[in-house]
Amino acid sequence: MSSASPAPRRRSLPVRVGRVVVGGGAPVVVQSMTNTDTADIKATTQQIAELWRAGSEKVRITVNNEEAAAAVPHIRDRLQMMGVDVPIIGDFHYNGHALLEAHPACAEALAKYRINPGNVGFGKKKDTQFAAIIEKALRYGKPVRIGANWGSLDQALAAALMDENAKRAEPWDAARVLREALVRSALDSAERAVELGLPKDRIILSAKVSGVQELIAVYRELAARCEYPLHLGLTEAGMGSKGIVASTAALAVLLQEGIGDTIRISLTPEPGQSRTQEVIVAQQLLQTMGLRAFTPMVTACPGCGRTTSTFFQELAKRVEEHVRERMPEWKLKHPGVENLSLAVMGCVVNGPGESRHANIGISLPGTGEAPSAPVFIDGEKATTLRGENIAQEFVAIIDEYVARRYG
Ligand code: SF4
Repeated sequence: MSSASPAPRRRSLPVRVGRVVVGGGAPVVVQSMTNTDTADIKATTQQIAELWRAGSEKVRITVNNEEAAAAVPHIRDRLQMMGVDVPIIGDFHYNGHALLEAHPACAEALAKYRINPGNVGFGKKKDTQFAAIIEKALRYGKPVRIGANWGSLDQALAAALMDENAKRAEPWDAARVLREALVRSALDSAERAVELGLPKDRIILSAKVSGVQELIAVYRELAARCEYPLHLGLTEAGMGSKGIVASTAALAVLLQEGIGDTIRISLTPEPGQSRTQEVIVAQQLLQTMGLRAFTPMVTACPGCGRTTSTFFQELAKRVEEHVRERMPEWKLKHPGVENLSLAVMGCVVNGPGESRHANIGISLPGTGEAPSAPVFIDGEKATTLRGENIAQEFVAIIDEYVARRYG
């Protein structure tokens, strides 16, 4: 059987964002964004800490007004006091040049500035305001993400490309022209930043759209035309399974082709749902593709008429939760534990086979089977669990294995 693996990673320049390296062959970085009012120092600090604990390696916050800009250095200080060592990225639209000028402590505290070429300024002000932000990046030694977005496309550029297209012997369709406008918006802005003196290894690009096929087409184009690291994300992915599926469909294709140096899953949280879900989905995407390992993976069968008990669903959930709860401690004490594989299976049909493929697997009894659950460790049957305490005993076997194998 030929080896199954993604295409080699596209070559890109390494860009340092705080202590994190993006591109240049570094592992694909997981990032997220807060949804608190940045001026609310307590809430924003708390959410950044939560996202970091969930595994976000960079966190972006909006810096949209004077109060938000004034809050940024306090947020950074509080995080440092809490031992939360995560680069904070400032998201600027319309007034970034003015906020960075008026709040030097904010400009210094941020690890990166994200600017949107479609709304950095309009008309004659566009160039001067863009230059003012790049000047701040130079003064404070910060990298910049030039993030074009379908929803705020540079309208002047789009109109110019439409005119250009009309003169073609065989004009492109409108969607292709708009894709080109998005790509050009990012590339032209990067070129302008370099002309202004920003080193190439301080630029990351993105060009986000909300359609899966469009996103794939845009990023293939961008990847072929530059060597900047690329930030991937399907913008406005949506809520729940739709958002997860759409983001995964788009990003998986690109990652499989070696495209993408940092990712964000732009999920709309359900009311009351934690913001950290977007981090978990990003990690699961990278881990299930074999690109990175973050936490032990639990394989579970979907269940069917052969197992009428909900016990195996509960056990699978309990194992998932146990592993996630223990990870902060395991990560420190048991390096390599993120590669551990677990299986929780519902009956004898695929149970023993799948369990043997995992480091630790349990095959629960299906309907009509003897009430015993064989446990397999590294491919060998190790023990059989019975009775009321199967869940506790299985979790204890996992803990003991982790301590022994990843000592
Ligand atoms: S392992 Fe058994 S219970 Fe699970 S899906 Fe397969 S046949 Fe159904």
